[in-house]
Amino acid sequence: MIRAVIALACLLCAAIPAGASSLLLADEQGAPLGRVPYLERGDERFVPLSAIADKAGWLLRNEAGIEVLSLDTLVLRARRGNSFYFLNSNCRQFPAIPQEWDGVLWVPLSGLFQAIPSEFLYLHPQDGSLRIRKVVETKTEVPSARGTKDESRLPAPPVSPSVWTMGTVIIDPGHGGKDVGCVGASGLREKDVVLDISRQLAKILLNKGLTTKLTRYDDRFVRLDERTTFANANRGDLFISIHCNSSRIRSARGTEAYFLSPARTESAVEVAVSENSVVQLEENAGQYQDLTDENYILLTMATSQYLKDSEHFASLALKEVVRSTPLSQRWVDQAGFYVLIGASMPAILFETGFLSNPDDEKFLASKRGRQKVADALARSILQLKSQLETEALR
Ligand SMILES: [Zn+2]
Repeated sequence: MIRAVIALACLLCAAIPAGASSLLLADEQGAPLGRVPYLERGDERFVPLSAIADKAGWLLRNEAGIEVLSLDTLVLRARRGNSFYFLNSNCRQFPAIPQEWDGVLWVPLSGLFQAIPSEFLYLHPQDGSLRIRKVVETKTEVPSARGTKDESRLPAPPVSPSVWTMGTVIIDPGHGGKDVGCVGASGLREKDVVLDISRQLAKILLNKGLTTKLTRYDDRFVRLDERTTFANANRGDLFISIHCNSSRIRSARGTEAYFLSPARTESAVEVAVSENSVVQLEENAGQYQDLTDENYILLTMATSQYLKDSEHFASLALKEVVRSTPLSQRWVDQAGFYVLIGASMPAILFETGFLSNPDDEKFLASKRGRQKVADALARSILQLKSQLETEALR
């Protein structure tokens, strides 16, 4: 386990595509034009839009972070991290969120088939090649989706029930059952503290109109991989795993928030090692693959799409908790937490405070203290909800 996390710590942001496969690209007559890489996630294959556009002679340009593909009378505008795209002036949604690697936008292939008419792009039923219609004249100006008034912005999408809202929050009380987590000097157990905070958080969010699902409602053991599977199966829009910290240094205290990414600091590695060590209590611990550079990207692909939002959520949560409780601020950091791997949504692991520290322990032992933490986390989730929903409208 330590080896895995340290390997992860050493990992620099590797370029795709270790593990990428490729598709044959051919013109309408079947003449090969080369190969296009793709990456699989679940049932979805992601392809780099620019590679296809290059081979096909389609006009693709980047306007302030938005990829604009012009094809005959069609203009498609998409960007990383946002499943909504524009086809001329119509707002539509990809089945999965486009992502960016090495500055290139990768889009779900099935979404591309929905967006681009089959006269330009289709999968050949016999040979499985990606057939494209080459465009020779690409310089002709085509109608713009932006209209003429404001060249700098996308038009506001039509207000309809299809507009994205953050509806379901998955709350994950860490540990449970035979896994007690860390224990304070007074005997206060992490699994009890985090379950109480999680329940209170769920109650507050419910009153604010959000749907919440807890990975455990009582004192039971839940495997780490089951927690994210549960989150995805329940179509969560946000995932928060709640924990308490512990250190041999009694003076260590305060709040930390983590998102999934290769660890950069020794202390983050330590926290990940500690939280990941739970797998030793699982019957099938061997199923957890080492987070080496070869498989890190594939293992974390679902979550890495949401890196920016996860990091932002981690900051908001930390800020709110520190602002309204005596818990002191430590940091937002990144590390390889198994419990976050595979979550198809922004996801963080939140360390409320140190049960090894007498002040933090005293605070977290009180019902009022735990309520304050839950209140603060709820505020940060509502802030994030409002920000992401506004962003989805852009
Ligand atoms: Zn924990």
